[in-house]
Amino acid sequence: MSICDSTNIDFEKLAAQVFDRCEVIAQCSDEAGKITRLFCSPAMANAHKQIRLWMEGCGLHCQMDSLCNLLGSTTTDDDRPRLLIGSHIDTVPNGGRYDGMLGILLGIGVVEALQSSLDQLPFALSVVAFSEEEGVRYRSPYIGSKAMVGCLDSELLDRVDDQGIRLRDAVKDFGGSVEHLAAARLREGSVIAFLEPHIEQGPVLEAENLAVGIVTGIAGQTRLTARFVGKAGHAGTVPMSMRRDALAAAAMWIQEVERIGQAREGLMATVGHVQVSPNVPNVIPGEVAVRLDARHAIDSVRIAAAKELQLRGESIASERGLELHWERCEEQNAVPTDSDLNALLKQTMEELGLPNKQMVSGAGHDAVYMSRVAPTTMLFVRCRGGISHHPDESVTQADIAVTLRTMVGFIERLSMSYSHK
Ligand SMILES: [Zn+2]
Repeated sequence: MSICDSTNIDFEKLAAQVFDRCEVIAQCSDEAGKITRLFCSPAMANAHKQIRLWMEGCGLHCQMDSLCNLLGSTTTDDDRPRLLIGSHIDTVPNGGRYDGMLGILLGIGVVEALQSSLDQLPFALSVVAFSEEEGVRYRSPYIGSKAMVGCLDSELLDRVDDQGIRLRDAVKDFGGSVEHLAAARLREGSVIAFLEPHIEQGPVLEAENLAVGIVTGIAGQTRLTARFVGKAGHAGTVPMSMRRDALAAAAMWIQEVERIGQAREGLMATVGHVQVSPNVPNVIPGEVAVRLDARHAIDSVRIAAAKELQLRGESIASERGLELHWERCEEQNAVPTDSDLNALLKQTMEELGLPNKQMVSGAGHDAVYMSRVAPTTMLFVRCRGGISHHPDESVTQADIAVTLRTMVGFIERLSMSYSHK
């Protein structure tokens, strides 16, 4: 017996509504002619106003927590276990319509789809719009979800933005309160599962002609800086044979980064930042700092690759008589999503006749932090050209409909497995 009779749901109509709503929220921007929505900005306030109307329109009880996360729930009973669905409300400057926002509006869409069977679900549904994920205004990401899981660094509260406004004051002006930070924290055991639908931000689904994919994990990440130190000198007078050119050495190492990245399945290895000193056309570069970003779903693979790259760097430096110094900037382990929830998604997709594509997210998401307090998974939605963080972000209405179907089927299966526990 199915709890939610999905045969009566008009997914095409709901998808059209989600699609149109993405367009409406795109107008909530801090910059004219662009989509820019920063943490606790006027644009975010406008987006809240609009999202509240939609949430209340489908019977959700809305409240904003102390760190400005907006929640809409089918219940006012805090003790009732809930399935939480959502993503972040903020964007990067000049961003797109779908990154973050699509996950929130899909959550509301699902509540509308299930209107007639909400009472029969063994848990409540809550939709969350995390207040901050992109790390733009206070140069620190995941502020919303960190507050909800209780790991927001209190030092951050006094950090200032480019206008000199402290985070605590921005939150206060928005109607929140860092003095009540603990109140934003989710109650232990209150969330039975968290589902974050999000655009893929990569080209894989499009290349394989798939609408949605199951995210089995979020890749771990190593960021380190290699500083090659040689000797600066006159570009016209120091003979080639007597040079200790730090940039030539760094260039060799960057090629090794690409080679090792290509040689290992699933490894992403990138040098996206180079600092050359003195960076003058007629001076041999004396010192070069090169930043490596390496990611993989399996921590041991990433760590071994970083180690190998360090050894290659050492030998390039010593062959050329250079010094090499390392600075580790970040080491974040991979976060697998919940295998039971993924199995339910897989069953759902099989039943809907969809290939159950499983994939790893190379980018970080709120799901990383939410997984600390609840079984968590993500659904990726195809986006054209894999483009994100750009006004050209594009998602089709047809793919939104497929995602809604998958989410409703998932909730149906989750409610059956939950009832049997
Ligand atoms: Zn995002």
